[in-house]
Amino acid sequence: MQFNLLDEFWIPVTRQDGTPEMIAPWQVTGRFVENPIVSLNAPRADFNGALIQFLIGLVQTVAAPRNNAEWRKKLKEPPSPEELKSVFSTVHVAFELGGNGPRFMQDFEIFNAEEGGVEGLLIESPGAHTKELNIDHFIKRNSSLAMCPSCCSIALFAYQTNSPSGGPGYMTSLRGGGPLSTLILGDKTHATLWQLIYLNVLEQKNFLEICGNPELPLGKAMFPWLGETRKGRRKKGSEFYGEYTTPDLAHPVTMFWAMPRRIRLNVENPSSGNCDICGGNSTTLISTYKEVPGGESYGGTWLHPLTPYYEKTAKGETNILPVHAQPGGICYRHWLGLVQQDSVANRMPARIVHEFIERARNSWQFRLWAFGYDMDNMKARCWYESTMPLLQVDPAYRCEFENYVAGMVKAASEVANNTRSAVKKAWFHRPGDAKGDISFVDAGFWMQTEQAFYDALKNLCMGIGSGANTMTIRQTWHQALCVQSIASFDAYAWEGPIEDADPKRVVVARKELGMFNHGKKIKELLELPVKQKSPGKVVKKKDK
Ligand SMILES: [Zn+2]
Repeated sequence: MQFNLLDEFWIPVTRQDGTPEMIAPWQVTGRFVENPIVSLNAPRADFNGALIQFLIGLVQTVAAPRNNAEWRKKLKEPPSPEELKSVFSTVHVAFELGGNGPRFMQDFEIFNAEEGGVEGLLIESPGAHTKELNIDHFIKRNSSLAMCPSCCSIALFAYQTNSPSGGPGYMTSLRGGGPLSTLILGDKTHATLWQLIYLNVLEQKNFLEICGNPELPLGKAMFPWLGETRKGRRKKGSEFYGEYTTPDLAHPVTMFWAMPRRIRLNVENPSSGNCDICGGNSTTLISTYKEVPGGESYGGTWLHPLTPYYEKTAKGETNILPVHAQPGGICYRHWLGLVQQDSVANRMPARIVHEFIERARNSWQFRLWAFGYDMDNMKARCWYESTMPLLQVDPAYRCEFENYVAGMVKAASEVANNTRSAVKKAWFHRPGDAKGDISFVDAGFWMQTEQAFYDALKNLCMGIGSGANTMTIRQTWHQALCVQSIASFDAYAWEGPIEDADPKRVVVARKELGMFNHGKKIKELLELPVKQKSPGKVVKKKDK
């Protein structure tokens, strides 16, 4: 079976008028003026997350702008499909899914291994190691799915891009298992798929400077499957063998094409029928694949432009690590580190966010699109995605603005903690002994205060810009936190274990919660006068 991902119509998209379509990558700018493509339309949300990274990676690899002027021009007036087809064709050899030559994101060597069902490429399914341990109770073993070449290609790309740990020799992705990605999302005047791609492409020079070795020749240094896999660093008994793929050994674009897993799809025996993922009819369904351990093991400091990172010091050694989604989802609690640098905790937003701040125009009302899996070690528990506003702040006030915002997020975090502790105190005679996860109390609190946070941010931005005193804005935010804290407490406090119930304890915990929330620590974070008297008032909802 021949199926070249640059020629075939395999990317599901939607046009402005709602028409769904399957396109080849070069067609992304087709009919741009009269009825442009506005979104991806894959059958799974995580497939859309993978596809957009495939397209960004492709454009970054062969069609990156040389300078800012070119970027601005092409953001509005994209290259024609024919121009894209021509530049994409320079890497045509790397995008063949079947055939006798190198196969897209599959191992160069033909190896022997037991065939597994193609559902193993879905990140929520148990990996090879889990199967050996016989603990794959979530998804039944040997359940056999069949995928059309489109779904199978997306699944393969998603798997290599997000690769979870899979036991000895089964390597994680270049950004670890199930990394978080943050992309710049355009406003109404930048709402096409092309613009989404191009907003997340860096100028060539800036991209090549991040990490990796741009001096390496084209070919395997970019697309690892064009030659024999560099067998990753792994352990057998007490011995280590294999080597790391460090930034000096691979081209920067390999960040989009990393191949931690040694996989060969069985494209030799396709069948006919309906795809189990998209439901579409196909005469070339793929049902099985082989995998062996020992894929590329990405070591050293790789800094993927779409992922936020943080510094971690352990045993006297400082490492820069990619951020991963955590249980509870993505919301403004992660503002520091995703949108704004957190120099105290050494958390830094993705490179693309820095780039956006440089590129942005005042009229742009863009958002950050953050997505990723919440991983339970070897498999995904769930998929999270969320958007946050990206405000334009005059560089002259940016520092002041960011200081206040940092205080606002930290104050919210304190109040969320207070609320959870108070619920525990209300529930249990000895809160310290309380077992079980009550993170839903926090999760609800963050969700309920999210709109008030974004309103406060907008007001703060305007207030600082006009030279006004922003104290009222911070006081309003403080009130919103206190009111929601008590509301969350009241919603849960009476629902504790009945055998430990004590109404008096609930009343005391509630009173203490009010005191903590109006205490010195939180007011200092918000830079509010410590002797301020305003507890218990109802916050007036602001006009939108
Ligand atoms: Zn399909």
